[in-house]
Amino acid sequence: MYAPAAVKTSSDYPIPDTMRAWVLGDPGKLSLTQKPVPVPGRAEVLVRIDAVAICATDLEIIYHGPPASIRGGMPFNRNFTPGHEYMGTVVALGPGVDEYDVGQRVTVEIHAGCGQCKRCREGMYTACHNYGLNYGDVDKGHRANGFTTDGGFCEYQVNNINTLVAIPDDMSDEEATLVVTAGTAMYGLTELGGLVAGESVVVTGPGPIGLLGVAVAKAMGAEPVILTGTRDNRLEIGRALGADHVVNVRNEEAVEAVRRLNGGKGVDYVLECSGAPNAVNEAIRMVNRGGKVCLAAFPHEETPVDVAHIVRNNIYLYGIRGEGKSATHRAQAFMSQKRFDARKIHTHTFPLDDLPTAIRYAKDRVEDAIKVVVKARGVSAAHKLAAE
Ligand SMILES: [Zn+2]
Ligand SMILES: [Zn+2]
Repeated sequence: MYAPAAVKTSSDYPIPDTMRAWVLGDPGKLSLTQKPVPVPGRAEVLVRIDAVAICATDLEIIYHGPPASIRGGMPFNRNFTPGHEYMGTVVALGPGVDEYDVGQRVTVEIHAGCGQCKRCREGMYTACHNYGLNYGDVDKGHRANGFTTDGGFCEYQVNNINTLVAIPDDMSDEEATLVVTAGTAMYGLTELGGLVAGESVVVTGPGPIGLLGVAVAKAMGAEPVILTGTRDNRLEIGRALGADHVVNVRNEEAVEAVRRLNGGKGVDYVLECSGAPNAVNEAIRMVNRGGKVCLAAFPHEETPVDVAHIVRNNIYLYGIRGEGKSATHRAQAFMSQKRFDARKIHTHTFPLDDLPTAIRYAKDRVEDAIKVVVKARGVSAAHKLAAE
């Protein structure tokens, strides 16, 4: 029976000693094994994982490795459990924790900074200078679950209390897994200055972060919000999430279309979520003089950038990592106040044991899959489509 010293549990939430956990072997190879249920330390809780969404970054990690780094190396064959967009129920409290209760439903941020470096002290914990240093004699206490420490494709995980976001009873498990995605979009808009009410915003790339970027920008009062992309079905979801205009860049030249839709002028802000090779050069031409561009996607290749255009036009470029500056809390506030319906991007749910099928749906976009969720309990059918 799970009963570590100084850890508070409840008989309402019995915890086994071992759990089902997927681990990454060679690239693309996941196997279901048993692992010990982890034990929360100081300022940590144990979360029973009720749902976890698959992210494009999980696919990068599972098939290629980066941006995951386990004990300073590639994540393969290291008994590593990926998965980072999870939510669940607090079932055990580490020593001294009174900020959360056993039984409370939470969703999680990915990053717990070391708390002692220059950036953590500034609140930029997703840019922690001790990123990934959590092992051996270089253990600085940093955690990025699913990137540098075990993640959510299992039944239980430990989380620092700073990574927890309480969620309301009427928010479904599936919707709660999307809070961190909306939080990443919110962090992008935060870094751009945040004061986007009445300002023009372009979002490039209708993946999950881009689509929720549209929703968050509209919730913050931006107008117009223009979404660009290559797939009409995704652009339609963007429209349903509040985009004032959508542009299919297969049919129209993106920069010209943006300027036409914004009264012949460049826009104030671009949130770049496509990672396309020409994305930066297009984004710097979409913004007006003095405009700001946030880069939120990981492109595969280095590309030449027209620096002279950036300098001549006093354009600001921001790279963002993850969901920093407590943006996830702000995103959750919009979602619990029903300022937008993130459920529009959830398409499929599978049982945890069917993770390889769920990954195939996400990777190959089977049945136009966008966000695919797996659940350790409560899903019996081979798969079910999202309600409504
Ligand atoms: Zn993600
Ligand atoms: Zn730090």
